[in-house]
Amino acid sequence: FIFPKTLIILLCLNSVVHPIEALSQPWSLLDAPKEILQNIIRDPLSLSLASTDFGHIIHQNPVAIFAPSSTNDISKLIKFSNSLPIPFTIAARGQGHSVNGQSMTNDGVVVNMTELNKGFGHNGSSGIVVFDNFVDVGGEQIWIDVLHATLEKGLTPLSWTDYLYLSVGGTLSNAGISGQTSRFGPQISNVLELDVVTGKGNLVTCSTKKNSELFNGVLGGLGQFGIITRARIALGSAPKRVKWLRLFYNDFSTFSGDQEHLISVNGINETNAPNYVEGMLLLNQPPLDLSFYPQIDQPRITSLVTQFGIIYIIELVKYYDDNSKDHIDQEIESLVQGLKFIPTFMFEKDTSYEEFLNRVHFDELALRTQGLWDIPHPWLNIFVPGSRISDFDEGVFKGIILKQNITAGLVIVYPLNRTKWDDNMSAVTPNEEIFYIVSLLRTTGFDKLEAFQVQNQQILQFCKDVGIGIKQYLPLNKSHEEWVEHFGLKWETFEKRKAQFDPNKILSPGQTIFN
Ligand code: FAD
Repeated sequence: FIFPKTLIILLCLNSVVHPIEALSQPWSLLDAPKEILQNIIRDPLSLSLASTDFGHIIHQNPVAIFAPSSTNDISKLIKFSNSLPIPFTIAARGQGHSVNGQSMTNDGVVVNMTELNKGFGHNGSSGIVVFDNFVDVGGEQIWIDVLHATLEKGLTPLSWTDYLYLSVGGTLSNAGISGQTSRFGPQISNVLELDVVTGKGNLVTCSTKKNSELFNGVLGGLGQFGIITRARIALGSAPKRVKWLRLFYNDFSTFSGDQEHLISVNGINETNAPNYVEGMLLLNQPPLDLSFYPQIDQPRITSLVTQFGIIYIIELVKYYDDNSKDHIDQEIESLVQGLKFIPTFMFEKDTSYEEFLNRVHFDELALRTQGLWDIPHPWLNIFVPGSRISDFDEGVFKGIILKQNITAGLVIVYPLNRTKWDDNMSAVTPNEEIFYIVSLLRTTGFDKLEAFQVQNQQILQFCKDVGIGIKQYLPLNKSHEEWVEHFGLKWETFEKRKAQFDPNKILSPGQTIFN
């Protein structure tokens, strides 16, 4: 009896896809046990999809795709690799929304995590199971589905990313941040327990109390220690609606001063605190996206941007529901009281909680119809110490981005509280109580890709030259020395955990930390 997928492999052996026997690796998939072979896919389309990502910058060619129908399948694959004299690399791929090849492997096997979803209820995936205070979620699940499942019970996770079509395993391998992070911590701070298949192939349940080294290593661990197959995530009660505000500033230090006030634990009492604080730049560069604002206000916004070159915008959200709807306007009034935005430049929307959380998806749909989604994304995400954010504004926003003749795209900037991050975890931040995330989210054609990459390097070099101790978020591949510097005091622990949980260094080679 030949399994259908095995048949595909055998057919592929003599096809245009790399014939297995012709590969230079000292291993062959043909040596794999039947239960692994039956989950192997090698058709050209699947291979080509796994050889790229949202960045469309890096391309790597895996030997095969693995389609697990259970956690056990993943364990068997990893154990098979470890059993070989020279193990092959294995990259878990959630949604492939990395921008720099992080979920790829050259000459190894990509585990298509979404396949696990098909096994829910058959001892395969954890699916999404909602309890009173937490939800158990398979590592392959995407956040939009977690939102829908929890909302059905009037519950919600507290900490989000801006975009919800990302996998739980993928974001927890980084941190998972958005405007809620200043108040509720990154997504990794909201995890109560994990199931992980380690780089040795062992399935381990871990938490801060049990197997804590693995738990802390995996959260923010860039996929280096194991594959997350289940996460237990804290829940709170879900609001129904949100007031969504944008406040305009023409002076950076007034803007950042107000942002820091809004996220400060002492500045604002807990009940009146905003549930979400972000910020962004409106640059005098085409195209000026004013879709958030009423049409009647768009001309005066355009002339403001033309006058100042850069406008800084605080984005602020306050949740409410039936019990609080009579007071919400009053609450908003007292929240913005004392803030020094440009008078009359405050804009407000009232939407459902779900529509607000899923806001980027609407942009995605618009970009897709314009053919602007599946194109290169030379993104740069950095954490900037709070004490140097004004220098960063002068040197980067005004000094590099505004002066150069390439459209910056979306620039997001907002402060985070370090106290909401757990330093035992692998995620790396600057060593200051307040630090900022600065995200340069560029979309470009291949013709301008190099110009953006050069600009990213200039920004990193500027920070180095003037001694701004930034840390990259979703770090781009670095040399060994740069990785050691990136992790700083955490490097020794990171290396030790690698030796403990993935001694053959087979997992997530696309991060280029150990490979
Ligand atoms: P992949 O790209 O598939 O994988 C990322 C890394 O994690 C790889 O190294 C992979 O091997 C590893 N990995 C994947 N699954 C697992 C698993 N189950 N267990 C262990 N390791 C695994 N990030 C934020 O924090 N906040 C945002 O607001 C935000 N917005 C974004 C918006 C867009 C449009 C995009 C494209 C990205 C955004 N990101 C944001 C970045 C995103 O969180 C990361 O790129 C994340 O890794 C994407 O998840 P993924 O499922 O696509 O991961």
